[in-house]
Amino acid sequence: MHAEMAEGSVQNGYRKEDGLLWQGRLLCVPHGCRRSIFESVHSTTHTGVKKSLRAIRSHFTWPGITVDVAKWAEQCDVCQRNKTRTAVAPQVPMPMPLPQEKWLDVGMDFAFVTPSNATDPKQSAFKIPSKSGPDSFFVYVDYTTRYTVAVPMRSMDTAEDIYDILFSQIWTRYGQPCRIVSDRDGRFLSKWWQNRLKSLGIKIAKSSP
Ligand SMILES: [Zn+2]
Repeated sequence: MHAEMAEGSVQNGYRKEDGLLWQGRLLCVPHGCRRSIFESVHSTTHTGVKKSLRAIRSHFTWPGITVDVAKWAEQCDVCQRNKTRTAVAPQVPMPMPLPQEKWLDVGMDFAFVTPSNATDPKQSAFKIPSKSGPDSFFVYVDYTTRYTVAVPMRSMDTAEDIYDILFSQIWTRYGQPCRIVSDRDGRFLSKWWQNRLKSLGIKIAKSSP
């Protein structure tokens, strides 16, 4: 696997298409985006390594994914605190929230390829090339199942561009959500965005800063 892999060629089970590497239908995530994809899957439910891995592998893969996920889960403060508490206190059964329908309560975020990784020759296979092409990912997470979708995008994409991605690539497959949690990115704060989602009956919630 290296940067010189020709478009459409296959090497070590990876296929190059649109400048991105694929293993079957799984997107091989560029180095700089891996941690943020883990965070988006893991950060609200704090499920263990196996469940986090399964959720990530519904759409993504990369070399050494198991080791990375195990390492990041190990570094997670919340998980570590919960472990200690479980070990000390007897386990009290907690009422679990009822499982809801999939893809109704979702989160959105962006994952950028960091410049430091882009210049590391070892990571060059995962660099997203081309100036006009995608340089980041739009990440869309279902809070019920933790399944995550990432669509290549350009960091300069506007609110209208993002709406197009949602409409043409995500909602056609997973349906329209009832609530979207997003960060305070200017595009999501714009009147245009707020009105558009409101007109579709979608509630907008801001993630904590
Ligand atoms: Zn955790």
